[in-house]
Amino acid sequence: MEITKLSAVEIRKKILSGELSCKQTVESFLKQIEKNTAYNAVLEIFDDALAKAEEMDKKIAAGFKGKLAGVPVIIKDNILYEGKICSCGSKFLKNYRAQYNATVTDRLLAEGAVILGRANMDEFAMGSSTENSAFGITHNPIDFDRVPGGSSGGSACAVALDMCPIALGTETGGSVRQPASYCGIYGLKPSYGRISRYGVVAFASSLDQVGIFSKSIEDNALMLEVLAGEDENDETCSKQKVDDYSNFSDAKNLKIGVPAEILKMTKGLECEANFANFVDFLKACGLQVVPVSIKDIELALATYYILAPAEAASNLARFDGVKYTTRNADAKTLQQIYKKSRSEGFGKEVKRRIMLGNYVLSSGYYDAYYNKAKAVQGLLIDECNKAFESCDVMIMPTTLGEAFKIGSKPSDPVETYKEDVFTVTANIVGCPSLSIPFGKGKNLLPLGIQLFGKKFDEKTIFSLAKFIEEKR
Ligand code: GLN
Repeated sequence: MEITKLSAVEIRKKILSGELSCKQTVESFLKQIEKNTAYNAVLEIFDDALAKAEEMDKKIAAGFKGKLAGVPVIIKDNILYEGKICSCGSKFLKNYRAQYNATVTDRLLAEGAVILGRANMDEFAMGSSTENSAFGITHNPIDFDRVPGGSSGGSACAVALDMCPIALGTETGGSVRQPASYCGIYGLKPSYGRISRYGVVAFASSLDQVGIFSKSIEDNALMLEVLAGEDENDETCSKQKVDDYSNFSDAKNLKIGVPAEILKMTKGLECEANFANFVDFLKACGLQVVPVSIKDIELALATYYILAPAEAASNLARFDGVKYTTRNADAKTLQQIYKKSRSEGFGKEVKRRIMLGNYVLSSGYYDAYYNKAKAVQGLLIDECNKAFESCDVMIMPTTLGEAFKIGSKPSDPVETYKEDVFTVTANIVGCPSLSIPFGKGKNLLPLGIQLFGKKFDEKTIFSLAKFIEEKR
């Protein structure tokens, strides 16, 4: 038996039945991480992982049966784990140690997970390739010369290469679904407010959510059960009841909506034929596919690249060389500390976002950009609600095509921003969306399709994904 190929659900079962020990399981995964260091998916293996596994074996022997009992997990480098470095892929935070646990970290530990390490990411989660990390590029698990996607590229690569069965990432505009698609695995962006962000370093607070990578639907659903639900430390976290996501419901009567605008947007792209194949496949499975409309979806990308930088400019003001971050050695006055530390600490893309964000928020431009983007957000929410009156789930491609080559994007950053054209809508309207692996591109690399659900209806998209998995 190859331990690292097992799903989280299988691992837990085998550990609880005594067929495997947690220590032996963690050892296998650590070996797998070490074997694949060239991919640069994991920035740090936590030195207490094995000791925690031994503790867990004792706890299990004493009757503990947590939902993740003994399951190894990797977390993105922007999620706080007390005492461990949390650098957000930035050299500015390279020495920052978490003072407390994020709520998601607490919930993982309470259910018996063993956290193996932290995964590489684009600096402050800004990017779509993990090329913006201050700690080197992560490679695509299937083709070493390509990107794994981003910003949670390390987490996605780690799951795809069996370094852990489940990993956590974060999403602001596609940072879980896009790398999941490029790495051929499942990636969930839950509804806004489904999972607490307490202790998750903020990028754009009105859009951010923790997301889940896995190789099986059961694992993804199980993880959402563990993480979701109200939190007194995060006011934006919903009090809505947490469903039993892994108790899949019957999907055969679901109505699947295909937005007409998506068909237009995919014209000529690599994803076009694959998306058409997916629609045919759903029909062949007996599902009802209906046309719907999200009239202004083409405005979503521009809207995102106003709202996200605006909020980032404000959130990143706290990194100033005084608290958290490293201080420039020559700075003498307070002004110099801010200026020199921020100039040397932040990478190029982060600086670009801060400038863009402050620009769209500056007096004279606030109405023209920020307020207009908020208005378009309102329109998109209304249009999605309307579309959901005639369907249960909408579908769209996750990416334009296959993972691109490392270093292949032109210097114009807008070319990279275009990568997010299909993913940002779910963040802007707050709906859940799951990228499932489906089909291959021209170089036989994986492609993904999004199952886009009604707000707080993760259960339906999981059930549909399960149905699809069984039909192929
Ligand atoms: N690629 C998008 C950006 O750079 C999304 C990032 C994210 O979801 N964290 O803003």
